[in-house]
Amino acid sequence: MTTRKFIVGNWKMNGLTAGLDEAAEVAKALASRPAHPRVAICPPATLIERLTRRVAGTAVEVGAQDCRPEAGGAFTGDVCAAMLHDAGARLVILGHSERRAGHGETDAQVAAKALAALAAGLEPIICVGESLEQRQSGLAATIVRAQVEASLPPELEGRPFAVAYEPIWAIGTGLTPSIPEIEAIHTEIRGVLSHRFAHSGASPILYGGSVKPANAREILHAAEVGGALVGGASLLAKDFLAIIEGA
Ligand code: PEP
Repeated sequence: MTTRKFIVGNWKMNGLTAGLDEAAEVAKALASRPAHPRVAICPPATLIERLTRRVAGTAVEVGAQDCRPEAGGAFTGDVCAAMLHDAGARLVILGHSERRAGHGETDAQVAAKALAALAAGLEPIICVGESLEQRQSGLAATIVRAQVEASLPPELEGRPFAVAYEPIWAIGTGLTPSIPEIEAIHTEIRGVLSHRFAHSGASPILYGGSVKPANAREILHAAEVGGALVGGASLLAKDFLAIIEGA
């Protein structure tokens, strides 16, 4: 089992040059803490290279928010995993619900992207999560288990990766599941991972969805919560650091 928490900031489609100062502030604060969680920031693709340079030599890792499954070619406007790695990213968020909903991404496509990420040397963070309707129908665990089965290719065995449980209805809404609800789904995910992967204990299961300074500590200490995927509250160093402090 991994015990060091993993806190990942997802800037989504936010962040211009000035945002780099926020990341630098996070890096500076971590440098003065002898023990801190693992921390990564996933800015928009336009900032990956500059962020990589800005936080070089610090504890802040840099990730991307998506990649194309193909290795290259005629896909105007898209970015492949090798390009992200070339720009400095070492992680990539895949299957975020905003991509599943807004771009019609299926579990199979997410799995293909995970393979592409592995081939390029990127550590995938694969997102799963149920809709409000599915939760209200008592289907949350079934849906999430099925997503974990179908979105994670067997080739992840022995490779570094993380799963992020992000209930869709909790993302950007200020709503969160109760701690027992989070623990129940994380335990389901752990069950699938243990069944499928011999070294599954090395892969953290992050919780994502309205993590804020006020609720971070309680969520991060819930059973089977290995860290957090943080959207809105990762944009300002002050808030992101307060979340990191709760780990
Ligand atoms: C996310 O986008 O992954 C997320 C969890 O967003 P927020 O923290 O803003 O709910």
